[in-house]
Amino acid sequence: MSSITNHPDEIVHHLGNTFQSGKTKPIEYRIKQLKSLQKMLEENREEIIKALFEDLHKSKFESILTEINFVLHEIKYILANIYDWVKPEKPPKEFANILDDVYILHEPFGVALVIGAWNYPLQLTLGPVCGAISAGNCVVIKPSEVAPAIAKFFADKIPQYLDEDAYQVYLGGIPETTELLKQKFDYIFYTGSTVVGKIIQAAASKHLTPTTLELGGKSPVYLDKSANIEIAARRIIWGKFINAGQTCVAPDYLLCSKEVQEKFVLSSKRILREFYGKDPKTSPDYGRIVNDRQFQRLTNLLKTSDIVVGGDTDSSERYIAPTIVTNVKPSDPVMQEEIFGPIFPIINVDNAYEAISYICNNEKPLALYIFSNRKADVREILENTSAGGVTVNDTVMHLTVPTLPFGGVGSSGMGAYHGKYSYDTFTHKKSVLHKDLSFLGEKLSNARYPPLTSGKLSYLQFMLSPGLTFSFKYVSHLATFLLGIGAVYGFQYLYKLNSKANN
Ligand code: NAD
Repeated sequence: MSSITNHPDEIVHHLGNTFQSGKTKPIEYRIKQLKSLQKMLEENREEIIKALFEDLHKSKFESILTEINFVLHEIKYILANIYDWVKPEKPPKEFANILDDVYILHEPFGVALVIGAWNYPLQLTLGPVCGAISAGNCVVIKPSEVAPAIAKFFADKIPQYLDEDAYQVYLGGIPETTELLKQKFDYIFYTGSTVVGKIIQAAASKHLTPTTLELGGKSPVYLDKSANIEIAARRIIWGKFINAGQTCVAPDYLLCSKEVQEKFVLSSKRILREFYGKDPKTSPDYGRIVNDRQFQRLTNLLKTSDIVVGGDTDSSERYIAPTIVTNVKPSDPVMQEEIFGPIFPIINVDNAYEAISYICNNEKPLALYIFSNRKADVREILENTSAGGVTVNDTVMHLTVPTLPFGGVGSSGMGAYHGKYSYDTFTHKKSVLHKDLSFLGEKLSNARYPPLTSGKLSYLQFMLSPGLTFSFKYVSHLATFLLGIGAVYGFQYLYKLNSKANN
């Protein structure tokens, strides 16, 4: 716990005062804090890697690539673009506002709460925090108690690098978070399960606090025989078993024909051996299940499945081998909840239409993956299904593109972030109409005043008609064009006069 206090009301009050003082608003201040966060990640790299190993048995490679570098990239991207983002927006005007200024100012919400999840405990906590800082907010940072080593790292280090008056780490589990959620925040950004997402939303609605909910769900993969099965299998196996399947956008299940399934299973056996060796348990690159509760839940799912690859478990290490199961029915337990572990069921469908029907009969997923070389089928699936995001011919990778918004839809969440979308998420867009106060301006708009006559109504309808704006734009373009031509002729005329005079 950082030093101000550990009472949620006092923390929120303190940060609220800091926000009111205007301290966090200057761009230079935001940049300084982001650079400090960058320094924290660079100077404590080894400590972070150690903590991630302690929490999740994460390899050094994955810790650097999917956690530390991910956040560093986000910070660098924000630093490179922030001056452009903060500029007031100038939307097009209608004819009725021809004498006025119409613009959109960006203002931070105030005190934001960021609640992180355990599976990528650094990235999923600090990623949104970067967005909140870039937009000028104060932040209460609540890491997941399920990844205690990283939570402790935040509590120790963040006060050393970030301004404690504006950014506070608050530790705890369900009781502490419940207490925290009683406070009135100006924004809540939550990452975690759909079940808890509803609790967060209910708490936020008591204060009408806007929220972003980054939730989960069963993300399907569709694979057809037009795809190169070997390449597809490598990309699917990688996306599924990275972090031992504990990735929100991990492929949850595969939809393919029996014929494709046979080839996929054969390729997968070979690929898994290549990735993790003969015994994945001894591979330094293969993770563990985060806690006993999750381990128990996953091993229960295995009991009712037809295992064709893997299936070994070891409770002493919370190890579950990369596992593929077939002959799966939609009513099986493994298809009733998000798996969030290294178990990959295959459901047989004969074509893209059956896949669409299966996907649409279930909740909207966070991610959807399509492996196919048939453009018409890819289009058909894209147009007839809904998902937070899609990668065609790969898995997971859409979330690495900073120009794409990352978020869910329906029960997989609401709102989005990454890059500019993070800045936008934590920014209120304040509309400003700055009216002209001159006699002419008053003349243009005084038809709204009583006594209200039919003549005034016709005049206002004419002034507000979209056609008038269009004609005005057209006329103004024409006028600019004619002025341009006039200027050219004018200059030529002056040039000739000047030449005559010199001769
Ligand atoms: P978790 O247990 O770490 O919970 C997330 C946060 O919610 C934690 O900070 C925790 O303290 C808090 N919390 C838990 N129960 C609470 C309660 N009753 N009241 C208030 N706060 C509570 O993580 P999890 O929920 O097990 O995470 C797994 C889920 O998160 C999966 O469904 C996964 O798909 C989803 N997820 C989504 C994303 C995304 O970006 N969309 C990323 C990671 C995980």
